Amino acid sequence: MQPLSQAEAVARAALVQVHSYHVDLDLTGTSSGPRFTSTTTVSFSCRQPGAATFAELKAIGVELARLNGRDLGPGAVAGGRLALPDLLADNTLEVRATMECTNTGEGLHRFTDAEDGEVYLYAQSFLDDAARIFACFDQPDLKAPLSLTVTSPPSWEVRGNGAGTRVGPGRWEFAPTAPLSTYVVSLVAGPYQVWSATHDGVALGLVCRRSLAPYLDAQAAEIFEITTGCLDHYHELFGIRYPFGKYDQAFVPEFNMGAMENPGLVVFRDELVFRSAVTEAERERRAVVIAHEMAHMWFGDLVTMRWWDDLWLNESFAEYLGTRVTAAATRFTDAWTSFAVGRKSWGYAADQRPSTHPVAPDDVADTARALLNFDGISYAKGASALRQLVEWVGDDAFLAGLRAYFTAHAFGNATLDDLLTALARASGKDLTAWSAAWLRRAQVDTLRPEVILDDSGAYVSVEITRTAPADHPAERPHRVGIGVYDSDPDNAPDGAPGPVTLVRRVLVDLPSSPAGGRTPVPELAGTRPGRLLLLNDGDLTYAKIRFVAGELPGLGAVLAELGDPLARAVVWAAVADATRDAEWPAADYLALAARALPAERSVAVFEDALRFAAATVVDVFLPERDQPAARAALAGACRRVIAGAAGTSGLLLAAARGLVRCAGTSEADELRGWLTGRGVPDGLVVDPDLRWLVLDRLVVLDAAGEAEIAAELDRDRSTRAAEHAARSRAAIGEPAAKARAWQAVTEDRATSVRLVAATAQGFWRPEQAELTAGYVDRYFADMPTLASARSPHAVRQVAAAAFPRYAVEAWTLAAAQEMLSRGDVGQVLSRVVVDAADDLRRALTARELHLRVISAP
Ligand SMILES: [Zn+2]
Repeated sequence: MQPLSQAEAVARAALVQVHSYHVDLDLTGTSSGPRFTSTTTVSFSCRQPGAATFAELKAIGVELARLNGRDLGPGAVAGGRLALPDLLADNTLEVRATMECTNTGEGLHRFTDAEDGEVYLYAQSFLDDAARIFACFDQPDLKAPLSLTVTSPPSWEVRGNGAGTRVGPGRWEFAPTAPLSTYVVSLVAGPYQVWSATHDGVALGLVCRRSLAPYLDAQAAEIFEITTGCLDHYHELFGIRYPFGKYDQAFVPEFNMGAMENPGLVVFRDELVFRSAVTEAERERRAVVIAHEMAHMWFGDLVTMRWWDDLWLNESFAEYLGTRVTAAATRFTDAWTSFAVGRKSWGYAADQRPSTHPVAPDDVADTARALLNFDGISYAKGASALRQLVEWVGDDAFLAGLRAYFTAHAFGNATLDDLLTALARASGKDLTAWSAAWLRRAQVDTLRPEVILDDSGAYVSVEITRTAPADHPAERPHRVGIGVYDSDPDNAPDGAPGPVTLVRRVLVDLPSSPAGGRTPVPELAGTRPGRLLLLNDGDLTYAKIRFVAGELPGLGAVLAELGDPLARAVVWAAVADATRDAEWPAADYLALAARALPAERSVAVFEDALRFAAATVVDVFLPERDQPAARAALAGACRRVIAGAAGTSGLLLAAARGLVRCAGTSEADELRGWLTGRGVPDGLVVDPDLRWLVLDRLVVLDAAGEAEIAAELDRDRSTRAAEHAARSRAAIGEPAAKARAWQAVTEDRATSVRLVAATAQGFWRPEQAELTAGYVDRYFADMPTLASARSPHAVRQVAAAAFPRYAVEAWTLAAAQEMLSRGDVGQVLSRVVVDAADDLRRALTARELHLRVISAP
């Protein structure tokens, strides 16, 4: 299939205007097979009668293709495009085609529930897959109302973007929608179960498959509460009512992303219906996704980017508003803390790779390229830039600008310039330089403090230096908080230094061109330094930060005593960043983690810091021989949390998961006991997902194998169990198991991409370097073939998971570079390998530093 280029989209939008779609889908055959029939009537006008264009159609058979009553002939479709010659001023296109469901989450995904054998469908039109469902002009700026009719097996529930009515057994009619871009057209069909409510005149629905119904039933009240809180808050912020009638939220299986913002029918991955215990941080993440998708109803759906180069108008805003509204309108008031330590680290990592790009790139040549920009830059960096913008122009002006933007472009399309015009008018500020520096430039600044003390120990001067990478020069202004933190002896237990609290905070503007990159902070002259001088206190800006050198040795102790969770998140993220940069030795990070993790009270911060410590610092940055001791130290930190954990925040669960993940051979017996109820920590429930985690670790420790996995599958026949089992089977430490797993990863097309990706995730384990050494070369030999045969989402997921990330050797890097230099690998695989190779390069540097440090006298 040929990707649509921006030039083609511009030309087509200049030529045609789409007035309406009517789509009729016959899904009756999908209960037993993958095929369905799609009949589409498109009404559109043409500004240059006599001209030609094309529509997208990704069908396996075309029964009828008629333009203005004239048969287009069998040769009209090629490469996913239907040629439309000799256009009239007003045109009617009729297409009836046989289409195929996928197992990749693209187009109409077909899923069979492992638990009860029921078949479920959902439509994912994003990014250019609408034509897998109906013939259309598949670009964001050709919006049109769509009416849908569906024939399904009689027992099925069908939901679409518009309100639906069952007009007969298995026959559904949906009200015409407001004008929609094709990439947000959706439906779900199957024996789904539905929960309904009404709030402020909006009909709300929750949808999930039957085998998850008991869980959603228990969680529906929480989800409705978050949904209605967010809806009220958006109405208040925007002053424009939710524009798409009813609001269904469907939880669907094997979904590729977190969720998709289809108007009136948001689709979520159904891992967000929790079937086992979760932490408050995981519940918060679900709330943020709910708020994020709802933000899209305005940002993306009501006003849509003209082309994918303005993807950030969708994702950066939804990310920013999703976090802001969660913090303001739900019980998860610390959402910005989780953002600081989790999402933002994702942004920083993506922004420092060779594949970095501006938040708003000048040029996104085609839809294939557009897909690559769904990364930490378009989401987290863009959201952080918006947070800076709000500091810059003020919240009232920001919101007034947004309202004007929505009003001017409702049900239409817009660009970066349109948004900046609205914000500049509302704020009275010229945003040209700001947007050039923040939105049109890649990479991230580093802020460092430089302090001079007088004889009494007070600051004589405090200066902040701002540097951008030499190969990505930029003059970014920052509004940044600077905090002085110190112990509070008045509140200390006997003999202890006392909790670390904020003594002084100043808000400083770092101008875009400070002399020599330095900005003095005269407000702090004469202030006594505390135990921590924290740049970016409050996390208002997006920048790497460093610390006063003399404060580094005490940082672990400060973290353990620092009361403000957001300040801790900023510190944790900064030390992780310095470790990734090999400015900090891995051993120093681990010592800090061992000291501060047991004291961490924010479960979101705990989970993130532990994940980085275990999955990156231990598994990748340390040589194999030093890994077991480091894992033991982290397991020890988790044991201290388990011993002291109380309440329901989930710290106990998070620490128990951490202990399982880091357990060594000597702890295998203890873990096996958990599966039979022996020696389980007080208050911990060993439920299905935790059982699978334990079993997976036992497999890696050679303390369980195929027999135990099969037995667990007997207990738990769910789809989630099938994924766990695939992951663990790939981890079995025998050559035959590895050979089977690799074959599945590279050759299995019949199984859903989700399950194949689970096998790939389970394949590489740091403990099995010797066993899997022969597969490093296989990766670089096999992936180009896989990439040429599979869809973008399949390549992205499988190739990323299957990369030999623990083969931290110069020759792995060389093999990656050799493969990339061949130039026949395609954009998606190329991007996966460029990013993974960059991680590998960092790992090699971190290991060099580690060896230097431990061999130093
Ligand atoms: Zn989004």
